[in-house]
Amino acid sequence: MSSEQRADIEAILDERAARLARIRAAMVREAEGMRDSELAHVDNHPGDLGTDVHDEELDETAGIFFDEEERRIAEARKALAAGRYGICTVCGRPIEPERLRAVPEAVRCIDDQRRFEGRHRQQTGH
Ligand SMILES: [Zn+2]
Repeated sequence: MSSEQRADIEAILDERAARLARIRAAMVREAEGMRDSELAHVDNHPGDLGTDVHDEELDETAGIFFDEEERRIAEARKALAAGRYGICTVCGRPIEPERLRAVPEAVRCIDDQRRFEGRHRQQTGH
């Protein structure tokens, strides 16, 4: 891989990470805004605690998604630094170029990704 290609991929990963951080910040702001508006209505619904619990569950799900995505981008950066970017970490074969274009942070080929997700689903029961 040429240093130019490497810089291109670095820029793509940077952009993905920056976009993720922006979405995350926007969601935090929105969640805070929701909490503020709930506080404003506290006087009207002093016993209504159900919506609070529901919002916290949503926040947690989104948080897990963002953590996972950030971890994947970090993994791809590590592979890039080690000169292994585009190589499947499971079978060592090159990852399909069209897959890398669609998912630049991919560190597994499509077959191993499917197997990985299948195992993950079995373990977590989802
Ligand atoms: Zn593979």
